[in-house]
This record gives sequence, structure tokens and C-alpha cells, in this order.
Amino acid sequence: MKNVDCVVIGAGVAGMTASIYLKRAGVDVLMLDQGVPGGQINRTSMIENYPGFKQIDGPTLALNMFDQTNALDIPYQYGTVESIENLGNEKIVHTDLEQIRAKAIIIASGRKPRELGLPNENSLVGHGISYCAYCDGMLYKDQDVVVVGGGNSALEEALYLADICKTVYLVHRRNTYRADDIFVQKIKKHPKIIEKLNTEVKEIREKEEKVSEISLTNGEVLSVTGVFIYIGQLPETSFIKDLCTLNDGYLVVNNHLETNIPGIYACGDVIKKDLYQISTAVGEGAIAASNIIKYLK
Ligand code: NAP
Repeated sequence: MKNVDCVVIGAGVAGMTASIYLKRAGVDVLMLDQGVPGGQINRTSMIENYPGFKQIDGPTLALNMFDQTNALDIPYQYGTVESIENLGNEKIVHTDLEQIRAKAIIIASGRKPRELGLPNENSLVGHGISYCAYCDGMLYKDQDVVVVGGGNSALEEALYLADICKTVYLVHRRNTYRADDIFVQKIKKHPKIIEKLNTEVKEIREKEEKVSEISLTNGEVLSVTGVFIYIGQLPETSFIKDLCTLNDGYLVVNNHLETNIPGIYACGDVIKKDLYQISTAVGEGAIAASNIIKYLK
């Protein structure tokens, strides 16, 4: 069985930051992820509120951070964590591929997109349904698409898609957005974005196994080829729910970012907090790492 000082679960912004701080302090750290490094920022087309970059797209920022971990020779391993066994001063991380023994753990597993829950939603992913405008937007060049949601992600990605697509319908269940004013003002002025407020997607219709139109609860039918779903995210805590305290699915941590289990810390979007931002995830990664360094001593 592999032995390390600290396993960082999740190679998103928080996990990569924590790994950089740990490695630079001489801690034997291993990063684990079930996807590509960067996590949720890989779904973000343009970031304009992360200091140091007036504008940077999510995947480029993720790659920059990953390059930094590579330069420090921080091992990055693929694997889905299934459970964590707490043996007191040691923990065993069980993945689908192996078991890893560690003195401490940082959980930075982030969140995954929330689904609408419509019957054909999953079967149409890749055939008109997407959770990533930046990845799939170009497939809908000069076509009519829908963005569902009223938060910062939905508005930001609607603006991104409006540069590529013919028409972007923005469907939101209320008549006010849960987003920064700068995005709301741009949406209201954009000639290619048509707001559909106070309504929800009732049905996604398909033709030859591809999205062809959607019907709304207000009775309207929109003829579209793409549906981009940005209705929030859910924390990735299924592997830890039997061990750590959760609130609404999110990990509960103290001021040191330690969970209820000594030696298990958490940071980034997976924790219960007020503000979910790249800048807060970075700060928490650094704080969790500095507390682990003290814990290991
Ligand atoms: P969010 O802020 O939770 O917004 C989710 C949106 O989806 C809300 O408007 C919500 O409607 C709607 N919604 C939820 N469930 C729905 C359902 N079943 N059917 C229809 N609509 C539904 O999620 P997010 O936009 O992904 O953002 C997540 C976090 O990241 C936020 O804290 C956000 O500020 C942050 N973020 C920041 C930036 C930035 O600073 N540039 C960019 C992206 C994300 P209601 O409003 O009615 O609840």
C-alpha cells in the first residue's frame, strides 16, 4: 500500500493550492482526482474577478496551476475515492483502483452540476444537452440555444454563447436574478439574448435522438438545438458522508478548516460557507495546508 503524509482529494483550485503549499513545506503530498485538473473552472468560459488576470478563461487558469504543481513534482493520480477509513493517527483512502495510507487528508472534491431531473436529460447529454458552454458552445455556432438558470454561471455563460450562437434564450424560474449586477446589465442590453422569466423547462423534445425544442411551463415552445444547464451545483461528499459532519450535503469545518475528524481538513466549494469563488478557494487551500503542516508536526 502506498504511504504518504497527506492525500489531497480533488485537484481543483483549492486542492492544487493546498498541494503547492504542502509540497513547498516539505510535506509528502499526493493529489487525487477523478477528472482533469481544475475541476469546475474548466466549465467557466471567462474569469474577470480573479486578481492578477483582467480576463482569463477557466481551462487556461487550471492549466497554469497544474503546471505549477508539476514544476514542484507533486504527484497527480487518477482515481475515484469510495471511502475513507479513520484509524486515528492514520487514515486509509479507498479508491476504485487502490488504497493509500496517509497521516492527514484534505478534501477539496468540489461540486458537480445540478441536473434539471427531466426524464431524457441524461440520454441527451452530448446530443443537445450540455453543462459546459465553453466545451460545447462552438458545436452550436449560428444556432438557437437555451441557457437555464439565473445565477452568475448561467448569465456569464449566456453572454459567452451569445458571441457564438444566433439566439440565446435565458430561462429563469423567477423574475430577478441571483447574479452580479454587471452580468444582469449586459444580459438586458444584449441584442441576441432573449429572457424568459418566471418560467421553467417542462419538457425537452427530441428528433432523431437530438434536442429539437423545449416546452416551458408558461406554454411557450422554443425551437432550439442546444440546452445549457446552469442551475447550481451539488457538493461531492458521498464518499465521506458516513464519517464527517455535513450540512445540506456540504462539509462542516471549523476556523482551521478541520472537519469533525482530527487530521481531515476540507477547503473550496465542498465546504459550507458564504462565498463560493476562485479567490476564496485559493485562500482556503492555503489555510488548510498551513494547518495540516502544524498538525503533522
Ligand atoms: P447558483 O448561484 O446557486 O444559482 C443557481 C440558479 O439556478 C438560481 O438562479 C436558481 O434559481 C436556479 N435553479 C436552481 N435549481 C433550479 C431548478 N431545479 N430549476 C430551475 N432553476 C433552478 O449557482 P451558480 O450560478 O452555478 O453559481 C454557484 C456559485 O459560484 C455562486 O456562489 C456564484 O456566485 C459563484 N459564481 C461566481 C462567478 C463570478 O463571480 N464571476 C461565476 C460563476 C459562479 P433561484 O434564483 O430561483 O434560486
